[in-house]
Amino acid sequence: MEIGTVGVVGAGTMGNGIAHVIAAAGHPVILVDRSDELLKRGMATVEKNLQRGVDKGALTPLDKAEILGRITPTESLERLVDCDFAIEAVNEDLDLKRGIFTNLDRICRAGVILATNTSSISITRIAAVTDRPEKVIGMHFMNPVPVMKLVEVIRGHSTSEETWRTTKALAENWGKVPVEVSDYPGFVSNRVLMPMINEAIYAVYEGVGSREAVDTVLKLGMNHPMGPLTLADFIGLDTCLAILEVLHEGFGDPKYRPCPLLRRMVDAGHLGRKSGRGFYDYERV
Ligand code: NAD
Repeated sequence: MEIGTVGVVGAGTMGNGIAHVIAAAGHPVILVDRSDELLKRGMATVEKNLQRGVDKGALTPLDKAEILGRITPTESLERLVDCDFAIEAVNEDLDLKRGIFTNLDRICRAGVILATNTSSISITRIAAVTDRPEKVIGMHFMNPVPVMKLVEVIRGHSTSEETWRTTKALAENWGKVPVEVSDYPGFVSNRVLMPMINEAIYAVYEGVGSREAVDTVLKLGMNHPMGPLTLADFIGLDTCLAILEVLHEGFGDPKYRPCPLLRRMVDAGHLGRKSGRGFYDYERV
């Protein structure tokens, strides 16, 4: 099937970045979220990031207008009846994702591939609620999507060879480098990254060092571009907690136990950059 219009569900941190990249590659995009306000926020982020490209001379104002013009924001999931490929990027919650996939399976035409941007949840478990598990695949973009090259591509138990090939080709057309990984909790990226972030939070929790000390040690000592607490704020502390819960439950190994400080910050609504406050303070986007 020729892939024209792409549906993206969720206009948050990842969804707006995914919509940006796909529209920049020339596809019409239907971007779905729960409210007009959330859609406006997502579109404002795309606009701001495109403007950065204009300021750097990488894009013309016309390019920016054309890319924005290809994205149609809507509160109606039913609009995805017109899409040829769908990517889900809602919060990291199995029940929420299974609900979305039940609806996508009903709404999208037969043959349309349904991809999930989950960071850690089993593709097989998500696919099982659909009547097309061979057409369900993990497409794990990295944050910020317009900048980061990697896409982990994850086959579920029933994902077909054709679905893998189409998804891989699309990722390449969108300027990304797809890497195939297996359907295990956290895949490769978050199985390695999240224990480090969690341990950094434990170091603060146990008073081993201040947040600045922990971040500086990793930045200057290990040459990381940003410290793990800054990175956790960037990812979203709710997302970090959800991923750690999946690792903890999936492997049954106490080494993945989320730090109580992380849990408390999420309970307090301190979710990092997106809520204006996490380990550090931010201007709310
Ligand atoms: P986010 O909280 O920034 O955005 C999630 C969006 O989904 C919100 O705008 C929310 O309103 C929307 N949403 C929730 N229920 C919905 C529904 N029923 N219909 C339509 N929209 C709905 O979260 P995020 O960081 O963008 O994460 C999204 C997914 O991407 C998660 O699975 C996460 O694990 C994954 N991911 C996140 C990162 C990261 O660094 N943040 C990186 C890679 C993958």
